[in-house]
Amino acid sequence: MFYIGIDVGATKLAAGLWSAEEQFIKIIESDSNYITGEALVQQICDAISSLMNFTPDKSNITMIGIGIPGRIDDATQTVFSDSLGFPEGIPLKKRLTENIPCEVIIENDANAAALGEFYYGAGLHSKNILYVSVGTGIGAGLILDGRLYTGACHLAGELGHIVINPQSEICTCGRKGCVEIIASGKAIGKKAVCLNKHIPNKKNATQDTQEVFHAYHEGDQTASIIIEDAAWSLASAIHDAVNLLDPDIVIIGGGVVKEQPKFIELIRKHLPHINIHPAQLGAKLSGLYGSVALCNLHSTKKE
Ligand SMILES: [Zn+2]
Repeated sequence: MFYIGIDVGATKLAAGLWSAEEQFIKIIESDSNYITGEALVQQICDAISSLMNFTPDKSNITMIGIGIPGRIDDATQTVFSDSLGFPEGIPLKKRLTENIPCEVIIENDANAAALGEFYYGAGLHSKNILYVSVGTGIGAGLILDGRLYTGACHLAGELGHIVINPQSEICTCGRKGCVEIIASGKAIGKKAVCLNKHIPNKKNATQDTQEVFHAYHEGDQTASIIIEDAAWSLASAIHDAVNLLDPDIVIIGGGVVKEQPKFIELIRKHLPHINIHPAQLGAKLSGLYGSVALCNLHSTKKE
């Protein structure tokens, strides 16, 4: 029996084939090409077809778990994703099951990553976890009393939309000064234009983000203000969430932290009494492990 785990990101799609021995046999990754909802369905189907080549019997693949950014309507299994450009919604489960002879489980990507760290990573020995993902955007997932807490629309713990500075810019959610508009990879990258001699890289926003961090490490004063402000803003949002939830551990993952592990130290400096750990599985794998954990949980429920 095999599962396939899929992590749909804003810039990459990762997919892994998971064996009964509880390990990935093969992981593949492709650049995101989701111009339309149908293009996303096609890219997921292509990834599944590629992975099916690595098992002798395709019927051995019984379930597919998917982590995807956005709100999920359980009744229709429709995903509404502003960050992927589908605010109008895609009936993802319906479209996939029309093409694939397996059960499909869909979860918000940060929730899936929290599950991944809970079952296989830094949260293995904790029952109450706040997982924070700092990537293109800022997301979070909650494990409370040993169970994933999703909320009504799978958006519980959307830490990225805690307002930190109402004088700041307008966020994608319509409010002003959310932590996401200050401290996400995208927000930091956009501020690269403030640096001396910087030429924005319109094709690769991640490089702009890395440019700001690079300038920060070189001692650039403008970069220092940008990065310190981002770290303080994230720490402030995490502090609010910790006061509300009292977790055993705060795990910080996502692409920005993977590329810049010392960013966690800057956040930790403002939160000396909180148990903060980096994601153990890494930016890509937290979500993939979480996607197969979804399959495990779902199959256990049915037994
Ligand atoms: Zn917002």
